[in-house]
Amino acid sequence: MTSQKKSCDWNTTSELYLEYHDKEWGVPVFDDKKHFEFLVLESAQAGLSWLTILKKRENYRKAYDGFDPKKVARYSEKKKAALLANPGIIRNRLKIEASINNAKHFLEIQKEYGSFSRYIWSFPKGKQINGDWKTLSEIPATTPLSDAISADLRKRGFRFLGSTIIYAHLQATGIVNDHITSCFRHKEVKRSFSLNSKVLGILAILLVFILNFSCMGKKDNNLPAGNENGLPTQDQAGPLQELPDLADTIARFSRELARKDIHPDSEAYVEDFLRWFFGEAGIPDRIAYKAATSVLESPAFFMEFFEILNQDPYTYFLVDKKHPLPDNYEPDDLVPLKAGKFLLARDGLLLRKIALDALEEMADAAAEDGITFTIGSTYRSAEYQAQVYAREVEAYGRETADRQSARPGTSQHQLGLVIDFSPIDDAFVNTPASGWLTQNAGRFGFSLSFPDGYEEVTGYRYESWHYRYVGKDLAIFINNYFEGIQQYALQFINAWQEQG
Ligand SMILES: [Zn+2]
Ligand SMILES: [Zn+2]
Repeated sequence: MTSQKKSCDWNTTSELYLEYHDKEWGVPVFDDKKHFEFLVLESAQAGLSWLTILKKRENYRKAYDGFDPKKVARYSEKKKAALLANPGIIRNRLKIEASINNAKHFLEIQKEYGSFSRYIWSFPKGKQINGDWKTLSEIPATTPLSDAISADLRKRGFRFLGSTIIYAHLQATGIVNDHITSCFRHKEVKRSFSLNSKVLGILAILLVFILNFSCMGKKDNNLPAGNENGLPTQDQAGPLQELPDLADTIARFSRELARKDIHPDSEAYVEDFLRWFFGEAGIPDRIAYKAATSVLESPAFFMEFFEILNQDPYTYFLVDKKHPLPDNYEPDDLVPLKAGKFLLARDGLLLRKIALDALEEMADAAAEDGITFTIGSTYRSAEYQAQVYAREVEAYGRETADRQSARPGTSQHQLGLVIDFSPIDDAFVNTPASGWLTQNAGRFGFSLSFPDGYEEVTGYRYESWHYRYVGKDLAIFINNYFEGIQQYALQFINAWQEQG
């Protein structure tokens, strides 16, 4: 159907071509078979018009086993000869050989990346690139992105996929949105997330769990498919029995996603959503990618996360240079530290009870390994922090002070959950206590706040002595999903809550 709306003005009268523009071109593709289909067709196109190929598309589908790369990779000489003799497709030996060769490398990428979609979307870091073209003549034939992908594919052994063909692939599969801005499809194929998308993200995540869960039920079940009435047998009760409800739920979620013009491939949506969300929270894409992978495999990430949200909120409260504490924040359950299980470097040290309990438990465990902690600094009031900071400025100048001391209102120490182990300087890293804490602090709910090499991220230089009590669950969460970097996990939680 030709649209009466304003569109890209492709120079064609072909209904097939226009329908392709209106329905397919530029829609983000996350499905590997679809990617492979386009790669086969695009590499066959070289030197011909796209319309020529579009007209032969269904012939190609039949000739190429529905574009199944596994089957294509195994094509024999006999099959090759049959393709060469097939008048429905482009009978070019080099192109046909390239398609079989490319299928083999396609499988290799799937093995390496989990899917070809992940591989190719990783080049633009999972984000769609939106063109800002007013006219067709402004649209480039290649870009540095297509150069990079084409070069990488060539290195991997692919053939007939130069930068121009790859750019066409990026446009076709919506990695690049090159509908001109006045085209009605420009907006429609745009993948954008709004502040509300958290809700949809959760829906998509649930949808994936439900789908995986119901599939698991089927897969794990080696019994015949029900009794003669087609109903589940007694032994098949469980996941299968719940299917009607699940189907209903899935349908509801799918409708909700469709209503928001979200691609029905929910796994891709979950990954896309998490990568976007982590990006918004200032967390590197490689961490987002790993979290997304784990979410798609098991619900543990979100189950653990929601459990953490039930903790005392100050255990995960983000306090840093950009996120000050609420004005006049002061914990109301501070208790004095007494020497015994550990030594005290000074008098008058205070901690919140949850942190002190954990410290005592940790000190007992350390004692069994012959380690005794000396506590150097703990809770600081805003006034006290102001003095500490002023002293640092006086001694080292503002620039250095800001690398190692917080301005009042922005110090983790004001939480009453932080311990500076003694000696509070770079000598600490060489003590047995430091080695022990590196290995064991997480088990007791403590996390190193300012690790080595992360000054850009945390705002502070490496402080081997500064540990924050975050609770056992969050400490494990940080280690499992955030490469042990507390700051990333707290940024994630903070972003999640801000977008509530
Ligand atoms: Zn268009
Ligand atoms: Zn400290």
